[in-house]
Amino acid sequence: MMLLNNVCGEWIAGQGPGQPLFDPVLGTELARASTQGVDYGAALDYARQVGGANLRRLSFAERATLLNRIAEVLTAKRDSYYEIALANSGSPAADAAFDIDGAIYTLKYYAKAAKPLGDAHYLKDGDFVRLGKDESFQALHLAAPLRGVAIHINAFNFPAWGLWEKAAPTLLSGVPIFAKPATSTAWLAQRMVEDVANSGVLPAGALSIACGSAGDLLDHVTGDDAVVFTGSAATAVHIRSHPAVVRNGARLNIEADSLNSVLLGPDVKAGDPEFDLFIKEVAREMTLKAGQKCTAIRRILVPAPLLTAVSEALIARLAKVSVGNPRNPSVKMGPLVSQAQQTAVQEGIAALSRDAEVVFAGGPDFRLIDADPSVGAFVPPTLLICSKPLQSSLVHDEEVFGPVATLMAYDGLEQALDIARLGKGSLVASVFSGDDAFIEAALIGLAGSQGRILAINREVGPSNTGHGNVMPMCLHGGPGRAGGGEELGGLRALRFYHRLSALQGPLKSLQALAQNAAELRY
Ligand code: NAP
Repeated sequence: MMLLNNVCGEWIAGQGPGQPLFDPVLGTELARASTQGVDYGAALDYARQVGGANLRRLSFAERATLLNRIAEVLTAKRDSYYEIALANSGSPAADAAFDIDGAIYTLKYYAKAAKPLGDAHYLKDGDFVRLGKDESFQALHLAAPLRGVAIHINAFNFPAWGLWEKAAPTLLSGVPIFAKPATSTAWLAQRMVEDVANSGVLPAGALSIACGSAGDLLDHVTGDDAVVFTGSAATAVHIRSHPAVVRNGARLNIEADSLNSVLLGPDVKAGDPEFDLFIKEVAREMTLKAGQKCTAIRRILVPAPLLTAVSEALIARLAKVSVGNPRNPSVKMGPLVSQAQQTAVQEGIAALSRDAEVVFAGGPDFRLIDADPSVGAFVPPTLLICSKPLQSSLVHDEEVFGPVATLMAYDGLEQALDIARLGKGSLVASVFSGDDAFIEAALIGLAGSQGRILAINREVGPSNTGHGNVMPMCLHGGPGRAGGGEELGGLRALRFYHRLSALQGPLKSLQALAQNAAELRY
C-alpha cells in the first residue's frame, strides 16, 4: 500500500518505491510513503491561495465549528486509529489513547475555547491610542491571520496528537496547513487527514499532507508562512538555518529534545503519600509509550539519604511492567517505534553508561511476552544511577528516547536547581513534596529554565494531570535546547498564527474595524 499525498486538492501517489513503514513488533512491512514527484512549490501556493482565502472568510465561531466537526469525524473512526497505532507504533491501548484521544480532546478544547471570540475575524490587542492633538487620529493594534501557509513538520512519536494539537489553533486562526508527518509512523496521520477530507468538513486547501521525505519543501517557504517543527535538536538546527527560512524571515516555532527532570523534596520519607506518588509517576513516565515522549522524565533528582529507598522502590515497580506484543492484553509496554530507534536507544544507554551505572535493565527474569526479540524493536525499562551529577555531562546532554532514566542525588534545593538547569532548558520539571515552602521555592527556582513545572503533594495526588501530559490550556514548549518554542496555552496559541499591525488613522475607521475584532483574553 502506498500512502497517498493530498496536495493541490488532489490525492496523488509519490513516484518510485518509496520508504517502507514497519510493524515494530513483527518486523513486517505495512505501507510505503513517497513524496517523489510532489511539486512542493505548487502545493504550498495552492494552500496559501485557496485554503487561506476559504478560511479567512469564516469567523472564529465558524472555524470553531469546523474543529468540532473534525473531532466528530475522528471519534467515529476511533477504533480504526487504534488498530493503526497498534500495527505501526506497537502501541498498547493506553499509549494509543494518549495520542488519539489526546488529539480529539485538544480539538474539542479549542472549539470551546473560541466561544468568547464569537463572530469576529480579527484580534485586537489593547485599546485605541491617541496619537494627535485631538481625538480624531488614533492607533489600534490589530492582528490578522497570516497570509501564508503553516508548514507543520512532526515527530514520529505522536502521529495523531502532533498533527491535531498544531492544527487546532492554526485552523481556528484562519490559516491553512501543510502537514508533514514523520515517515515511520505517517500512516495514522495520513488516514486521519483522508477521513476528514472525505467527510467534506474542511474547505478546499485548508489541510494538505505529504508523507515521505521533506525533499525541497523548505526551499518554497515565504515570509508569509510559519514553519512549525517538532523533532530532534539535530533536525531543528537544519530547519532554523535553512536559507529560505532565514532569508524570508518566516515565522518559526521549534519543539525539540528535552532532558526533563523530577525533584523529590527533602521532607519526604519512604512510605509517605508523596513518595508513593513520586515512584508511580516516574515509573509511568519511563514506560508510557515506551518512554517515547518529549516530556518524559529523563533525570530523577532525590535527596542523598533517599537514593537507596527510591532506587529499590522504582526497580520493584519497573520489574512488574510486562513488555511485549501489545496484542496480548497483559502487555503494558510495547516496543520502540522502529529498529532504528532501538539501535539509537541502545547506543544512548551505552553513552550514558560512561557517566552512570545501569542498575536495572528488565531484571534477571525479564522475558518478552508473545514477541521475538530478534525482530521486535524492544528495549526493557532501564534505570541508571549517576553518582556525580554536577561533574557529569552526558546525563544532562544525551536524550535517550526510550524507557530510560537516570537517578541522581542532590544536597539542598540550590544544588537540585543547578542540576536541573544542566539540561540547558527543558519542556517540563516536576516537584514532589509535602512542604509548601519547598514547593514554592522550587516552582519559582525552576521557572526560568522550564516551559512547565508541576508540583505534587498528597492533596493534589488524585486530581493532578501528570508530568508528561500536555494540557491544551497550558503552554507547551521549553527554552534553550528544548527549542525555545511555545505551543498551545489556550488562546495564547492564536498569536503565533496572526500578524500584529499598528493601524493608525481616523478614529471612526478604526472603530469600524474594531467591531470585527475580538480581544484575546486568557
Ligand atoms: P526527527 O528525526 O528530527 O524528525 C522530525 C521530523 O522532521 C520528521 O517529520 C522528519 O521527516 C522531518 N525532517 C527530517 N529531516 C528534515 C529536513 N532536512 N527538512 C525538513 N524536515 C525534516 O525527529 P523524530 O526522530 O521524528 O522525533 C524524535 C524527537 O522529537 C525526539 O528528540 C523528541 O524529543 C522530539 N520531540 C519533541 C517534542 C516536543 O514537543 N518538544 C514532541 C515530540 C518529539 P522524516 O521522518 O521523513 O525523516
